[in-house]
Amino acid sequence: MRVTIVGAGLSGLMAARTLIDSGHQVVLFDKGRSPGGRLATRRIGNACVDHGAQFFTTRDRAFAALVQQWCDAGVAYEWCRGFATAATADDATGQVADGHGHGDGDGFARYAVHGGMNALAKHLAIGLDVRCNSLVFGIGRRGNGWRVTLDDASVTDSDALVVTCPVPQTFSLLFTAEVAMPEALWRTEYDKTLTLLAVLDRRGAVPYPGGLQGDAVFTFIGDNRAKGISAEPALTFHANATWSDAHWDQPPASTLDTLTELARPWFGDAEVLERQLKRWRFATPRSIWPEPCWQPDGVHSLAVAGDAFSGPRVEGAALSGIAAANAVMSPL
Ligand SMILES: Cc1cc2nc3c(=O)[nH]c(=O)nc-3n(C[C@H](O)[C@H](O)[C@H](O)COP(=O)(O)OP(=O)(O)OC[C@H]3O[C@@H](n4cnc5c(N)ncnc54)[C@H](O)[C@@H]3O)c2cc1C
Repeated sequence: MRVTIVGAGLSGLMAARTLIDSGHQVVLFDKGRSPGGRLATRRIGNACVDHGAQFFTTRDRAFAALVQQWCDAGVAYEWCRGFATAATADDATGQVADGHGHGDGDGFARYAVHGGMNALAKHLAIGLDVRCNSLVFGIGRRGNGWRVTLDDASVTDSDALVVTCPVPQTFSLLFTAEVAMPEALWRTEYDKTLTLLAVLDRRGAVPYPGGLQGDAVFTFIGDNRAKGISAEPALTFHANATWSDAHWDQPPASTLDTLTELARPWFGDAEVLERQLKRWRFATPRSIWPEPCWQPDGVHSLAVAGDAFSGPRVEGAALSGIAAANAVMSPL
């Protein structure tokens, strides 16, 4: 089969790898400059900063086996087994209050990626036909297959189609193809995230192991150097959904200033050398579809996937992509 995949985030990449392994021809289109989607890493001078997903966990055995392969290949590594919490951190010293650290918190491994989370996407994209800077503008049926049209009016025909954008974006594409998604699915809402990236002149005050949860405003504070991906001290601050929604329409400069003030206790004695704001409109799905992917009744050549299907995290995106590939390969 010739299969087109819309979106080269983790779902799309895992769908592609699964299809290629079964001998199918795959082309992926992504509107971004490089594959990865929310597996996003930015270079700021000599600093390397994860500004989307920060780490991943394994709950499913198949995903755990996949992560083991990534670790064996030298791509991923176990970062820690739990994070500090704001309640236990002494922000004056940067040490954890009881002096022992909480990095072994709940005993479950948190994995990171050498060179930043986006390096996992680059690894998975090796040997794939990934066409970036390619916005899919419309989808239509073409005989027994599918036609996707890019915003430069070029078209690509295929026997099967996997769509892995966040659901609201998928909905508008499928609308043009007159494919009706169930209302409960197309109404999937996403939380927004406003993210502050701060490069410091010395170590900040994020306690061991360089990740912290439970702050009043930030769902996660990450120290990219302590994590092992950055040569320079650089912190990531993800504001929570309520805060991000309330400040979404504020001018970016004022949001950056406000976030910087809120983050200041975690800078310790360090000066901020550079700061940037990242806005994630579709950060986290608020509801999860009960199946790992969706197909219209009786149409096996189309599957819709993404983290709104198998869970709002790296693991869910990967499993959903694999499920979508298997769905379009299964006989009618
Ligand atoms: C701020 C933040 C923090 C997070 N932290 C964690 C974490 O610590 N741990 C964890 O497990 N998960 C985390 N997540 C969630 C995790 O990143 C996602 O679940 C996962 O990366 C989603 O992958 P995906 O392939 O489903 O979607 P995406 O990565 O969003 O991929 C979809 C792709 O579709 C492309 N696209 C959309 N529309 C079009 C179009 N019309 N044409 C072409 N391309 C299109 C986009 O460019 C994108 O690359 C976080 C997410 C965010 C935003």
